[in-house]
Amino acid sequence: MTPSQPTIIVIGAGLQGSSVALALAARGIRSVLLERQPQPLLATSLRNEGKIHLGFVYALSSGTKTAETMLRGATSFAGYLDAWCGPLPWRRWQSAPFRYLVMPDSLLSADQLAAAYCRLDETAARIAADGPLEYLGQPLTQLWGEPTPASAPLRMTRSLPWFETVERSIDPRLLTTAVRKRVEAEPLIDLRCGLEVQAVRACGTCFQLTTRAGPLTADAVVNCAWEQRQRLDRMGAETLDEGELSYRVKHQILIRPRRASSLLPVTMVQGPFGDIVPWPDGNIYISWYPTGRTYFGTTPPPDPLDNPTVARRVAEESLAVMADLFPDLQGATIVSSLPGIIVARGDSDVDRPDSGLHDRAAIGVQSAGCWWTIETGKLTTAPWFAEQVAQQITHVFGIRTAHHHAAVAPGGPLATGD
Ligand SMILES: Cc1cc2nc3c(=O)[nH]c(=O)nc-3n(C[C@H](O)[C@H](O)[C@H](O)COP(=O)(O)OP(=O)(O)OC[C@H]3O[C@@H](n4cnc5c(N)ncnc54)[C@H](O)[C@@H]3O)c2cc1C
Repeated sequence: MTPSQPTIIVIGAGLQGSSVALALAARGIRSVLLERQPQPLLATSLRNEGKIHLGFVYALSSGTKTAETMLRGATSFAGYLDAWCGPLPWRRWQSAPFRYLVMPDSLLSADQLAAAYCRLDETAARIAADGPLEYLGQPLTQLWGEPTPASAPLRMTRSLPWFETVERSIDPRLLTTAVRKRVEAEPLIDLRCGLEVQAVRACGTCFQLTTRAGPLTADAVVNCAWEQRQRLDRMGAETLDEGELSYRVKHQILIRPRRASSLLPVTMVQGPFGDIVPWPDGNIYISWYPTGRTYFGTTPPPDPLDNPTVARRVAEESLAVMADLFPDLQGATIVSSLPGIIVARGDSDVDRPDSGLHDRAAIGVQSAGCWWTIETGKLTTAPWFAEQVAQQITHVFGIRTAHHHAAVAPGGPLATGD
């Protein structure tokens, strides 16, 4: 460590913490990345649907902040990761585009959804005024449209209205493997796995972190501990006011269809419904919210997350419902079922139109002195928030950056979205 550089500790090596460490390294800045699991990127960043959100699922949010946050996160996602990891094979990793299917008991009618998607277009156009938008390595121009006679059929037992979108998922297993390798290989990242931060104490201008292996001292901390984040913030930075968070457990279920299927990705809106995402390797991600969401509370789930019996039951129940709707899924085998935690704001569930869960306007970076905390919100926004923190740390400590790798995404100057 050069004497002029502060000791920066990043807590949590999910996509958020790993991105922070990589964004700092891109500027020639060292960091210590602490992870309680034996390897980085084994938690929520692996156990998800991998959708790089353009804002469609937040049709019930008020104002345009959520849409803008998703669009800015989504359109800089590949650019930052390419800059930190080298060009990544987005085309090979991505799903086909999503269709948004309007369920009979949707909280919004098809007309209301179309109106919300038009507002999304307007927000995208406003952002694009700063420069052309890119999404997973491709120019982003049109966001959605009505189906045409040339559209491939939905392959569903019911006939329901739907919209075509350009939104896609990337396979989180492939993404996390690539980022993990990059983090492990980066000499400016001191990665320490199997090390849980148990407690934090602010002492004057530094922070003392308690771990099983003894105390660690930092000049700056970036808290990316997802469901543990608020607990650590309360010890490290009392002045932060983050409001009340909710914690849900939802499962990442992968199935293998009986025979190769031509199903396309689907998100059922608007409310507690489900998704289908066929991955490039032939496995299909499915979710059905009423059976896949097994915990909802204002504290992180009390029980150990990995319970194979529960995970199996959830997968079987979810598959039964989805196979009723999509006959191509009948007879499919369950490949895996992994619970993940979703942290958000909102004390009622997504079946209520006024639930705060329909909004992600408040996610992002906060700081108090040299304590930074990131409410990741979505996988989609993690690289963009990481870049914001790296910029702020560089500025606060007056660090002259070495520009080890490209530190600014190809999309142009950093937009804060505030
Ligand atoms: C089923 C499911 C589907 C989802 N689908 C999508 C989607 O399609 N698109 C999207 O954008 N988002 C999606 N999400 C949300 C997305 O996965 C998360 O927003 C994102 O992965 C959070 O990243 P993170 O790095 O903040 O958290 P994590 O990946 O959980 O990383 C946090 C890390 O911190 C470590 N840690 C925690 N406490 C400590 C401690 N005290 N000391 C040391 N280490 C600690 C953990 O072990 C973990 O590795 C989904 C989530 C779930 C569960």
